[in-house]
Amino acid sequence: MTAVRPSPFPASTVLGYPRIGPARELKHALESYWSGRTAYDELDKIGTRLREDTWRRLHALGLGAVPSGTFSYYDQVLDTAVLFDAVPERYRGLPPEDAYFAMARGAAGIAPLRMTKWFDTNYHYIVPEIGPDTAFRLAGDAPLAEVRQARALGHDTRPVLLGPVTYLLLSEPAPDAPAGFAPLDRLPDLLPAYERLLAALAAEGVAWVQLDEPALVADRSAEELAAVRTAYRRLGAVAARPALFVATYFGDPGEALPVLAETPVEAIGLDLVRGSLPAPDIDLSGKTVVAGVVSGRDVWRTDHDRALAALVAVRERAAHVVVGTSCSLLHVPYDVERETGLDPALRERLAFAEQKVAEVVELASLLASAPDGAPRGADSRATPSPVSPEPAAPCPPRSPYAVRAAAQAEHLRLPTLPVTTIGSFPQTGELREARAALTAGRLDEAAYEALVRNEIARAVAVQERLGLDVLVHGEPERNDMVQYFAEHLDGFAVTRHGWVQSYGSRCTRPPILYGDVRRPEPITVRWATYAQSLTDRPVKGMLTGPVTIVAWSFVRDDLPLRDVVSQVADAVRDEVRDLEAAGLSIIQVDEPALRELLPLRRAGQDGYLAWAVDAYRRATSGASDRTQIHTHLCYSDADEIIAAVDALDADVTSVESARSHARLLREPAVGGFERGLGPGVYDIHSPRVPEVEEIEESLRAALKVLPAHRLWVNPDCGLKTRTYEEVEAALANVVTAARNLRGDH
Ligand code: GLN
Ligand code: ZN
Repeated sequence: MTAVRPSPFPASTVLGYPRIGPARELKHALESYWSGRTAYDELDKIGTRLREDTWRRLHALGLGAVPSGTFSYYDQVLDTAVLFDAVPERYRGLPPEDAYFAMARGAAGIAPLRMTKWFDTNYHYIVPEIGPDTAFRLAGDAPLAEVRQARALGHDTRPVLLGPVTYLLLSEPAPDAPAGFAPLDRLPDLLPAYERLLAALAAEGVAWVQLDEPALVADRSAEELAAVRTAYRRLGAVAARPALFVATYFGDPGEALPVLAETPVEAIGLDLVRGSLPAPDIDLSGKTVVAGVVSGRDVWRTDHDRALAALVAVRERAAHVVVGTSCSLLHVPYDVERETGLDPALRERLAFAEQKVAEVVELASLLASAPDGAPRGADSRATPSPVSPEPAAPCPPRSPYAVRAAAQAEHLRLPTLPVTTIGSFPQTGELREARAALTAGRLDEAAYEALVRNEIARAVAVQERLGLDVLVHGEPERNDMVQYFAEHLDGFAVTRHGWVQSYGSRCTRPPILYGDVRRPEPITVRWATYAQSLTDRPVKGMLTGPVTIVAWSFVRDDLPLRDVVSQVADAVRDEVRDLEAAGLSIIQVDEPALRELLPLRRAGQDGYLAWAVDAYRRATSGASDRTQIHTHLCYSDADEIIAAVDALDADVTSVESARSHARLLREPAVGGFERGLGPGVYDIHSPRVPEVEEIEESLRAALKVLPAHRLWVNPDCGLKTRTYEEVEAALANVVTAARNLRGDH
């Protein structure tokens, strides 16, 4: 008996909801628990309350089908690994709660699992390790427990699980797995655990379950598509099970859609904001389609006409259509009503999670009374308006590298193996409090300014004392490397409470880029020149690149992204010029998010990389030959976009290779990478102070593939999350290691 008569899917739903808490309750609870200030029970109490509040709120907003299982104490991919007991051996000795957080963050002597970006978002998930011997089994009853918890409040929920194919595709082979092993090979062994879970949910009276398969919107091999077929045929064949809703999102499922449509799953979710209406030859007549017409990736109100047209078009093709969000609302803040400081004209155009739920509900009621018929503009994808403000004027390229390198060597006179940092120095509690006080009006500009200058002087003094060669001002004036610039550029608004989870307890407040971007006046020049006035050594000016500023903001959808990035590039270009004119000889323009905006399908990737690189070069090409341009990429998997990183044409590139062993370093010739390179010599994500010996070793390894005159010595990322104590000890060792090796070259 296969779900004989699935109860119909209610008319409206969301694929997921924010979970950090409207006032970042989860963040505070986690950090308090991790620091040992509170017990696990306290954390659990807050988690329970957050889940309950979400169910109540969704219900109160009138949503038809309320999901459960969208909460997590750290990450939903990690939760999936734990649910199926795919816990690597090294964590198994620990009590369950400790094992969970050790996988996420490491524990004494135990390395964490790797963390990486969730598709093209700025959310990071924990990468499960799966080997040939991973013994999958249903461990614990988390999804059932949540169903019961919600039911106790009177809500029947739809458990949300990560689907088996995406789960395996996002996992990486365990370190001891044989060459050629792929986690997806283990699908036949994993499916029984999903089958048991479905049976258990059915026994609990659950009507629908959601299986998230966002991996299906990227290019998939025939083998991977076959895995989709196998998985959903088998799960569809479970004797007594809830009805299955497979959610695809972040793009178009393309060739995976007909495969899914031929399996017994009852409902399919389509992202109709980024994807398009299903091709006419795909038979959806037996399926419920959850039509994602309200974007979970931006903060704009939905165009109701366009959404309704798409819904009507889908209704003609499917057995039943449900109004939904394009993806989980995890990626947007809670409630725009709290943003009382925003210009009302802008606020009116905005929708955060609460408002988006209301839109879904409203669209469902509009759809119920909408007549059938040829809809106008049925393709709901945001069609960018064709009018760009002014076409960007071309910028002449910089001189060839050899010319620049000679001019810079002459001008800068740096030693071999120059030591520098990535930009930020520790952000002290005092500084953060002062910033809060400034915002609240409890501290005046002048007092804040004095404090920032103090911090700059401190950072410069430390670097001089330790003997670094290229100094930084330490970025004390920046709350965040993107928000700070957004606050000083026209065309951006910033929120007070618009927090979005980035990973674990970490949240960011993405600025809102709503209009044409312009730089009304210099932004960083006074801080950089102040730092330079304190020292004879070169100070490196520090800017965020145009792609990263855009990637970490919510961006207007009425202009093509490349035009928006180009406007930001011009603003950065103005700043580069002014820094140079103010006497800075080295300027770093960070692009840690270059990889993040890479389209998920190969077809769009080259085009994206071409304009992204172009924007970077546009931002930096105003610099004269003797001004040295640096760039930094961290979690951006420089490896995968090696040619683009090379094409940025920065004089010096620093990458996070302490953890990722960038291919740039291992085979610098691969990308024709022939300029300066600073592979991170230690991992700043850990409080551990690296020994001189290990730094030397990592430098020696680099020197095997890189001539000494091109090697830079630096930590693998900014130091703002560390303490001065840690930083001073670590940098002292870095300088010693560099000096020891300098003797040989
Ligand atoms: N310059 C920035 C810093 O040091 C770079 C941060 C980053 O790579 N994410 O903080
Ligand atoms: Zn970094």
